[in-house]
Amino acid sequence: NANRFICNYEDISDSYELLEELGRGKFALVKKCRNKKTGELFAAKVYGKRAGRRGERAKALNNEISVLGIVPPHPRIVKLLEVYHGQTEVVLILELVKGGELFERLLQESVGLCEAQARRVIRQILEAVRHLHQNNLVHLDIKPENVLLVSHDKDSDIKLVDFGLAKMLKEGEIIRDMVGTPEFVAPEVINYEPITLAVDMWSIGVLTYILLSGSSPFLGDSQQETYSNISHVDYDFEEEVFDTISDNAKEFITKLLVKKSSKRMTVEESLNHPWMRMPLSADTSLE
Ligand code: ADP
Ligand code: MG
Repeated sequence: NANRFICNYEDISDSYELLEELGRGKFALVKKCRNKKTGELFAAKVYGKRAGRRGERAKALNNEISVLGIVPPHPRIVKLLEVYHGQTEVVLILELVKGGELFERLLQESVGLCEAQARRVIRQILEAVRHLHQNNLVHLDIKPENVLLVSHDKDSDIKLVDFGLAKMLKEGEIIRDMVGTPEFVAPEVINYEPITLAVDMWSIGVLTYILLSGSSPFLGDSQQETYSNISHVDYDFEEEVFDTISDNAKEFITKLLVKKSSKRMTVEESLNHPWMRMPLSADTSLE
């Protein structure tokens, strides 16, 4: 039941009209596009063929196609529908996610989301990650730019995108080329120790902290300082916003930002943590 995409060698412009830019990342440019036959809208992720430093772009493309090609479909994970191999570029046709980045949403709120909204977003990210981890896939780049909102509603559902670093986990794997965004990277990645699925759980801890407070727990003035803060798990809940945040939420973060990866909460444990299990009625009363 894997996600079977169609591989195309014809010209993309025969089938799709490329429209406005939706976003861009390190390796690719993403544009809205319209299927000329059906009128349906999609997202076209355009990878130029230039290999980039140490062939990173080619690797990202390869990771993305292989992971999105084997992961069984899931409502919280963006779907890959077609791949166009052109002369100068490769274009992935993805399901269109219309509400923009969680990152942009955060910029609108100076001190983070309310607890109920943060919990809802994190729960959905955990559901996406549980699906990946059940298939022994690790995302390795969970951050607010790679979590998209389905709509502009305050309680919008999310979808996880950007599988450029994602991979099937191999036992004892060490990541040599420092990947991901410094602020979100787990200590074992920085220290060139073997990685596990728990790398994603660390990033979710960082993301939860940011969603609740609007500030980044380990961010220093330089990349070196950020890495040093991460390595020493040097963060606190001193920011004023945390005065009004529940102990359950703080404990949830504390149990994810654990240096030893085997002691970190797993995705299943996170979904069963008291903060996640607070009833939905509690969510509305918090608003
Ligand atoms: P990169 O690997 O270069 O970071 P991403 O897959 O993260 O590329 O895409 C870059 C940006 O494009 C995203 O942060 C998002 O804003 C936008 N984007 C990506 N995929 C979609 C999609 N399926 N629907 C809508 N926007 C998207
Ligand atoms: Mg990205």
